[in-house]
Amino acid sequence: MPKKILLCYPEGKHKALTMSYDDGVEADVRLVDIFNRNGIKGTFHINSGMFGTLGARQRLTEEEAVALYKGHEVSAHTLTHPTIARSPREQLIHEIFEDRKNLERLFGYTVRGMSYPNGSYTSQIKDLLPHLGIEYSRVVETTGGFGLPDDWLEWKGTCHHNRNLMQHAEAFAGLDKTQYLYLMYVWGHSYEFDNDNNWELMEQFCEFIGGRNDIWYATNIEIVDYVKSYSRLRFSAAQDFVYNPNAHSLWLSVDGDIVEVKGGTQVQL
Ligand SMILES: [Zn+2]
Repeated sequence: MPKKILLCYPEGKHKALTMSYDDGVEADVRLVDIFNRNGIKGTFHINSGMFGTLGARQRLTEEEAVALYKGHEVSAHTLTHPTIARSPREQLIHEIFEDRKNLERLFGYTVRGMSYPNGSYTSQIKDLLPHLGIEYSRVVETTGGFGLPDDWLEWKGTCHHNRNLMQHAEAFAGLDKTQYLYLMYVWGHSYEFDNDNNWELMEQFCEFIGGRNDIWYATNIEIVDYVKSYSRLRFSAAQDFVYNPNAHSLWLSVDGDIVEVKGGTQVQL
């Protein structure tokens, strides 16, 4: 009988939390401070053509953004925030590719994620994204659940922060069935906390859910990369050994035992 093998998150965990905030506005300073104090990781989707502008909200300058988002992920949100389902394809390509180039020049790593500005997308846009180097994109629809997405280019979060955040957090904290991989994914805009005067909601949430040793606190792309790495593992047909061709470790549950498979090594199961 082959052993029962299941993917785990790093260190054998089965729960992950990720946060996703859009537009790169000044209120992100306060939000990042709350995340950092509680060991929570976020992904910030930025319009690099709008740095330092004052539209409806004050956007961060390039220098402020570079200093602020250290330890978190910066990802694309198009250059100038058009409703892309109404844009010509040529404009769409320009908006995404130039955003990538600007962000990569500033932040020094390959930008491979996105969220759709105004939540706007079509199946044609989704088909185009892999050709522009985009591996995931978040939508505004949510599931209310804690599953991994079926389609990374139509990534639905668990909830917007104004939709029963603490109820979801309590449900997530209580999940203990280790046969499942759970993900809690919260999205929003930090300026909404100013508008709604409810910063204490995010303070309360992060204090409650942060700093737990059974949760992997990850950026969006770290989750994508980890799950994709799993599909590259080379299991023997008898499932009695596995080779990990990735550079980093993957963790498996093998008949209930946690096994670390280090990058570039073969492990007996
Ligand atoms: Zn936006």
